[in-house]
Amino acid sequence: MSKVGLVYHPIYLKHDTGGHVENSSRLVQTVALLEKSKLMGKLVAISPRAATLEEVSLVHSRNHISRVQSYSARGGGWLDGDTYASPASYDVALQAVGGVLNGLDAVMAGEVNHAFALVRPPGHHATADEAMGFCLFNNIAVAAEYAKRKHKLDRILIADFDVHHGNGTQEIFYSDPRVLYFSTHEYPWYPGSGSIQEDGAGEGKGFTINVPLPAYCGDNELMRAYKEILIPVAKRFQPQLILVSAGYDPHWADQLSLMQLTCSGFAGIVSIIKELADELCQGKLLLSLEGGYHLEALSHSIKATLEVLLGNTPGADPLGKPRGAMVPPDIDSILEEVKARHKLK
Ligand SMILES: [Zn+2]
Repeated sequence: MSKVGLVYHPIYLKHDTGGHVENSSRLVQTVALLEKSKLMGKLVAISPRAATLEEVSLVHSRNHISRVQSYSARGGGWLDGDTYASPASYDVALQAVGGVLNGLDAVMAGEVNHAFALVRPPGHHATADEAMGFCLFNNIAVAAEYAKRKHKLDRILIADFDVHHGNGTQEIFYSDPRVLYFSTHEYPWYPGSGSIQEDGAGEGKGFTINVPLPAYCGDNELMRAYKEILIPVAKRFQPQLILVSAGYDPHWADQLSLMQLTCSGFAGIVSIIKELADELCQGKLLLSLEGGYHLEALSHSIKATLEVLLGNTPGADPLGKPRGAMVPPDIDSILEEVKARHKLK
């Protein structure tokens, strides 16, 4: 059985967004389920810490960091149309980054095989200079850059299954061949980026791989994207570490997408990624929470993820198949186009 770390701390509840869809109930309900199902006791607790200014500056401008800090210091406010900072948000966002870094250090030190960072605010939309899409600092991007510098890695794979394209992560590593960014997402959808043609620049050409998918894709379509694209990509890239932007908003019950994944579908995707980590990089795998807004779907999907990481078979999916399911689209031509662009056949 694998040793699996869970990064969590009640400080993550203090990013107070009021009635916003990205609110503290997401973690409260998830932690309650992990405790009730006795899964919590099987995980290695990893405490977060505040990331230092130097660490956050690995990917963010000082101007951006100061702006988040000053919004919080002034009592909070909207950084963009849908991204809110409360008085505590700056400190909480530092703890989210620092939590992911502590999870990463635990994985790299071999204290755990894999880790899941149950943190908020999320991160993958935050660019070097801007907060957006509920994200203040880009947790997974800081982790990738930190892994390069501190752990001297030069091949890091980031897989992002959030339903929204991780524009911030893509932008930060767009010219960097040492960080391969792979994303499946609903398209066209917020934030608008993530086409097949966006495939990196300069030395990073070919190291951004987008699989934009139409509405109503379900477990089968997403699993195909991971089997047919991510597996050959990862085997070619030979990562030393796999990071995952784990967003559970493609779930069929989630109000922020039109996708139709089930909890079992997330378990299937995570199994593929875990097998790649076990085969290619001694299991070195760290997942960090991004989206997922239907509380029951989110908590059960995270539970299924953790079961897979532990090497268990997840139990029955309590939400079951999509209610009022739409016929999934044919994604053959999209997958073929991605394979052709990235020379996967
Ligand atoms: Zn999302």
